[in-house]
Amino acid sequence: MTLVVDELSKRYGNELALDDVSLSVDSSELVGVLGPSGCGKTTLVQTIAGHLSPSAGTVTLRGEAVTERPPEHRQVGVVFQQSTLFPHMTVAENVAYGLEATGMGTDRRDERVREYLDLVGLDGRDGAYPDELSGGQQRRVELARALAPQPDVLLLDEPLSALDRSLRTRLRDEIGRIQRQTGVTTIFVTHDQEEAMALADRLVVMHDGQVAGIGQPRQLYESP
Ligand code: ADP
Ligand code: ADP
Repeated sequence: MTLVVDELSKRYGNELALDDVSLSVDSSELVGVLGPSGCGKTTLVQTIAGHLSPSAGTVTLRGEAVTERPPEHRQVGVVFQQSTLFPHMTVAENVAYGLEATGMGTDRRDERVREYLDLVGLDGRDGAYPDELSGGQQRRVELARALAPQPDVLLLDEPLSALDRSLRTRLRDEIGRIQRQTGVTTIFVTHDQEEAMALADRLVVMHDGQVAGIGQPRQLYESP
């Protein structure tokens, strides 16, 4: 198992946002986390990323507790619903920024940036600024930036929810292709059942901070 979440709970004051959540993700697997707004998806992602500390339970990445690692060695790539691109940096600079902590030399870094812009279908746009790109292209830059350091786990938190329907379907298929091509272990969080079913090898269904079901999409949602 690449990633193991074991009996994780997170409390905000009196509110129990995560209540004894356990799940594990295999190497190269794409696990969907599906549930309505407020069920604890973002809290789960932030805890796995090490941005939030759990009230109880553990997150283990390749056998090592996530909270034991310094942030630059956490090897988790994250893409959120909102853009986090730096507006004053070009596309290439934004992607290179994700590689700063790796201590990679400039030549190798430039090569890595090109490789990942190519992977997401953005070669030729490296000198553009984020506001010169379409919403979909900006999403691709975010993906390239998250993937370029070759993280152990990619966390996608509603990455397509701000886009219109047809673009969402197109980019969803692109994410599927990129995930298969790189083999990166991925958690894809969404409130959209169709999106989750189209992408996920396995689905974790959440309700009120708890895991309500885990299984293959068809086992969970198709009547026998
Ligand atoms: P989502 O798109 O996941 O539903 P939300 O709109 O629930 O996101 O939350 C956006 C941000 O606000 C998150 O950083 C979350 O931690 C924070 N947040 C959500 N609910 C509360 C709350 N009741 N009190 C304080 N912060 C909150
Ligand atoms: P989701 O991502 O599924 O929308 P969240 O993880 O954002 O769910 O939120 C789960 C619950 O925790 C919600 O009831 C939300 O209001 C609450 N919550 C989230 N972040 C905070 C926060 N920083 N402070 C207080 N409550 C929060």
